[in-house]
Amino acid sequence: HDMDLSSFRDPKLARELIDRIHRLVGNRRINLMEVCGTHTVSIGRYGFRSIMPEGLRLLSGPGCPVCVTANRDIDHAIALARTEGIMVATFGDMMRVPGSTSSLAAEKSAGRDVRIVYSPLDALELATELPDRNVIFMGVGFETTTPAIAACVLEAASRGIENFSVFCVHKTTPPALRAIANDPETTIDGFILPGHVCTITGLAPFQFIAREFNIPGVVTGFEPVDILTGIDRLVEMIISGTPAVENAYPRSVRDAGNPVARSIAEKVFEPCSATWRGLGEIAHSGLCIREDYARYDARRRFAVEVEPTREPHGCRCGDVLRGVIAPTQCPLFGRACTPEHPVGPCMVSSEGSCAAYFRYR
Ligand code: SF4
Repeated sequence: HDMDLSSFRDPKLARELIDRIHRLVGNRRINLMEVCGTHTVSIGRYGFRSIMPEGLRLLSGPGCPVCVTANRDIDHAIALARTEGIMVATFGDMMRVPGSTSSLAAEKSAGRDVRIVYSPLDALELATELPDRNVIFMGVGFETTTPAIAACVLEAASRGIENFSVFCVHKTTPPALRAIANDPETTIDGFILPGHVCTITGLAPFQFIAREFNIPGVVTGFEPVDILTGIDRLVEMIISGTPAVENAYPRSVRDAGNPVARSIAEKVFEPCSATWRGLGEIAHSGLCIREDYARYDARRRFAVEVEPTREPHGCRCGDVLRGVIAPTQCPLFGRACTPEHPVGPCMVSSEGSCAAYFRYR
């Protein structure tokens, strides 16, 4: 799209929306959650948390894929990287996340074959260039990234590339929102729904938050006016008691999403149970590789022993991801835990809540 974004950055429009939100909220206490890590970063960059009305809190959710990856899965990737003949390829953020006793970056320094790639296709190319290595792509991410990984598996199958596989820790967003809506420790009055994820999923999988939980949700973009419009609509629906799931990002998101991308993903993946940092195990919240493509599934192909799981001492990342505490409420925030020396994944990833709060504090 060749679209003029200036109106979504218009300071005058932004000011008007901020004033309106202040008038609407008054003395009320309202908790909104931004589900997506990119929203967390945008909200931090524009300083929205500090200019909202006193009673309106913007809590960060489970939308950073690296952050919600369970320690067990990181340890599993490390065990794979320690295996003779295997190369593990993954995104840069994933490398630095501490597992129970190591990280992929530490394994790389220790001489294991671990590489940073920018797309799964890079990993597939490595597999074709190095036929005597087993190249494993560690696939993390939500609905936005899965179609590309699926396409890559299909490509490997059609080209008959046998030394490529995926260690799949993909997750889907709606079951996590259900877990948060059911969580007695946190009260969310409205969800800022993930703009990128919804370009693929459309609105249908999120309708349950309004129907079953009476919580409104608005799909928003990432520019200042987008986010403020979303907040404004949520506040309106909360106050009037008319919860619905709405699309305030129609320039990118169609209500029906992208059925072509979904069908590619569905060819390769099927829902399975997954463990999330902070949220625990959630049924049908993960994606596993279907039986038909089992030879591209690193979990099935390589049996490795995974070390006992140990969570980073004192890290409250799990509570941050559920919206129970803000990053600044973690005793280690900015002291023992900084982007230079991260204790938990929420400080490692550029989309992590702790890193975003630290950068824009
Ligand atoms: Fe974990 Fe660091 Fe965030 Fe605290 S500040 S929750 S230790 S990542």
